[in-house]
Amino acid sequence: MLRLLLTCEHGGNLIPSAYAPLFQGQEEVLKTHQGYDIGALELYQTMKPIADVGFYSETSRLLVELNRSLHHARLFSEFTQVLPPAEKERLLEKHYKPYREQVEQMVSDFVSAGRRMLHVAVHTFTPVLDGEERQADIGLLYDPKRKHEQAYSKEWKAALNKADKELLVRFNYPYLGISDGFPTYLRRKFTADEYVGIELEVNQKFPQQGGVRWQEIQALLATTLQEVVLRNRALLSENAI
Ligand SMILES: [Zn+2]
Repeated sequence: MLRLLLTCEHGGNLIPSAYAPLFQGQEEVLKTHQGYDIGALELYQTMKPIADVGFYSETSRLLVELNRSLHHARLFSEFTQVLPPAEKERLLEKHYKPYREQVEQMVSDFVSAGRRMLHVAVHTFTPVLDGEERQADIGLLYDPKRKHEQAYSKEWKAALNKADKELLVRFNYPYLGISDGFPTYLRRKFTADEYVGIELEVNQKFPQQGGVRWQEIQALLATTLQEVVLRNRALLSENAI
């Protein structure tokens, strides 16, 4: 049986009051794509009804980067890098580990009950980075070595393109699925049959422009993902019989 987990690591730009002094005068940067994924939480909430389980964060990525491993050089931002080691440890205990451990536990619970978990991590990306315009509306990031991830991503892209021929959907763009993200960490914990991790990346031009088109994109992502889940759920139960 296939189950769907939705997460949103960069849902908000909140800074807990204990860390507010580190961000004094930085309110503007918190409002940009550096502070959070613009539109991601709204998209997550739109898609949430199709998921079996979900988890999100509204704390800014500039406090601690939930989508990076503990060893990553950019786990802490320029604002929190300056904290002494004990303070960093406290920050991780309170704002990083609970999120990561909770999601890992959700996967583990389903997997140990004999289910396959499809994890879709909802993200958005800035249309222009370092002066370069990104050439995609939607990116689906996965590990090409994991055949279910590749197959589900292909099915999702096909469903999106069938419903809306205008949409430019690309694989492993604007980032590679095998980069140091949360699914990359989870792939090391679970087999390719147990865990299928896909990072969804949506161009922030849609939430920034808002209006009907943004509503359409959100609805489309939810309905097409649901199609993929239902089809593969049926396939898996056929095989089980
Ligand atoms: Zn993100």
